[in-house]
Amino acid sequence: MSDCLFCKIVRKEIPAAIVYEDDTLLAFKDINPQAPVHLLLIPKAHCENLNDLTPATAEAAARIPGVAAQLARDHGVAEAGWRLTTNCGIEGGQGVYHLHFHVIGGKPLGSRVCR
Ligand code: 5GP
Ligand code: ZN
Repeated sequence: MSDCLFCKIVRKEIPAAIVYEDDTLLAFKDINPQAPVHLLLIPKAHCENLNDLTPATAEAAARIPGVAAQLARDHGVAEAGWRLTTNCGIEGGQGVYHLHFHVIGGKPLGSRVCR
């Protein structure tokens, strides 16, 4: 999608600190990290959020938990613990409408998933 921020990162039109890339997924550091490790893991193909999955994007998204776990290991937070989350839509707190999963760790995150 031409005017989507994360599609522009996929196309390398705007810079990002990319930490993982394969045929269908891309991960990069969040520009405003909420924890010592805060990565965004996205399917390369544009898809707004989980409400908008198609068979093609669902196939890529299905690989996200495994790749996220590998990223957690690579960034040294797997043993201590980490979080994988996605915000979906207005009340879900979504800001960027290209499906993305936050991989967060490196500090105690608490047990609450919302406040
Ligand atoms: P959301 O609120 O949609 O779940 O999360 C969007 C995330 O994207 C936020 O954590 C925000 O800091 C991050 N973000 C917004 N713009 C950029 C950008 O241009 N580059 C990077 N790396 N992250 C961004
Ligand atoms: Zn996009």
